[in-house]
Amino acid sequence: MSETVFTYAAPALKFGAGASTEVGHDLAALGARRVLLVTDPGVAATGHPARVAEVITAAGLEVTTYDEARVEPTDESLERAVAFGRDAGPFDAIVAVGGGSSIDTAKAVNLLVTNPGELIDYVNAPVGKAQAPAQPLLPLVAIPTTTGTGSESTTICVLDVLSLKVKTGISHPALRPRLAVVDPSLTTTQPAMVTAAAGMDILCHALESYTARWYADFDAKRPEERVPYCGANPIADMWSERALGLLAGSFRDAVRDGSNRVAREQMALAATFAGLGFGNAGVHIPHANAYPIAGRVRDFRPDGYPPDEPIVPHGMAVSLTAPEAFRFTFDAAPERHQRAAELLDPSAGSGPDALADVLATLMRDIGLPNGLAEVGYAEADVDDLVAGSLKQQRLLATAPKPVTDEDLAGIIRRSMEHW
Ligand SMILES: [Zn+2]
Repeated sequence: MSETVFTYAAPALKFGAGASTEVGHDLAALGARRVLLVTDPGVAATGHPARVAEVITAAGLEVTTYDEARVEPTDESLERAVAFGRDAGPFDAIVAVGGGSSIDTAKAVNLLVTNPGELIDYVNAPVGKAQAPAQPLLPLVAIPTTTGTGSESTTICVLDVLSLKVKTGISHPALRPRLAVVDPSLTTTQPAMVTAAAGMDILCHALESYTARWYADFDAKRPEERVPYCGANPIADMWSERALGLLAGSFRDAVRDGSNRVAREQMALAATFAGLGFGNAGVHIPHANAYPIAGRVRDFRPDGYPPDEPIVPHGMAVSLTAPEAFRFTFDAAPERHQRAAELLDPSAGSGPDALADVLATLMRDIGLPNGLAEVGYAEADVDDLVAGSLKQQRLLATAPKPVTDEDLAGIIRRSMEHW
């Protein structure tokens, strides 16, 4: 029997320049007295977390800061953060200030200061035991300082399990932040390449959730089987379409001139809208491929990122196979792919290549690598990349049509060079 029900959930939202200065009031309104603030060293250096801590203290609350969240969290980095939270607690609210990594770290800490057991008990199967939390979590307030990840809206914490060399996650509705505070004045310090990569992540969140398998095309679920990501649906569609429109108007400008405040605000709004969409619909092939593309990096070091470690940033990794992924999925939902292409570029052509062409042109304009070859991959890597993508079955199942290993190999092979 086919599914007839879709679900929609989202955090409360406070958006706009200066919104983060009100967080002391917001936490007090949630009944908090002792607050744990989670951030990472890079974000801490910008001074934003210290300013947030100040407004919390000014509201008469106590705040303890943990500033050692890892960019790209691992099981070990999350366990350290949890140990800190368990030792320094009890707390009655958590605030995350930073990118997806800080927010994801705060989600894991929140889960494990309120619930017994170890991290791996809650990690998605088959890597972990996929246990559901038995106790309610603390209210989590997420204050993103990089636009893109959408982590402030989602139920997911992404992590690398080091011993298994696998990227996986913890996903449960209880992990979703209670309040997202999106303050575009916190994001003006991003280098151009960071804006480009983060913007492609936003764009792919919107495109993948818009082209995801329609919710009614899944098998019917029992109430206890419902998952936060239920496939494309009328409400997620609305957010995705609006996000695409905002990106069409502001993405190139935001990359070209980091001080363009209007463009930055539009990007922050696009990121929020896309998060509200994909946080319920889900993402598919480009995100599945991004896991091994980021995870198997050898020595690629993009401009604008710390030079000490090779990295294919998440948004860049997502974008590199996106044009070919959408060429592949076109026939499953031609009108949706066409509409997305036109929202991004009213002069887009038509047919299976329209969206792929719009994406490749955009990527070239904003200075992203011209495909997988430029970040260090070659024909000899195709099998390993395919194997890595196949581990992301939860994401592949959200694609609008079945995806075989040969399909993935074709997408990856044709993504070596886009123009
Ligand atoms: Zn993403």
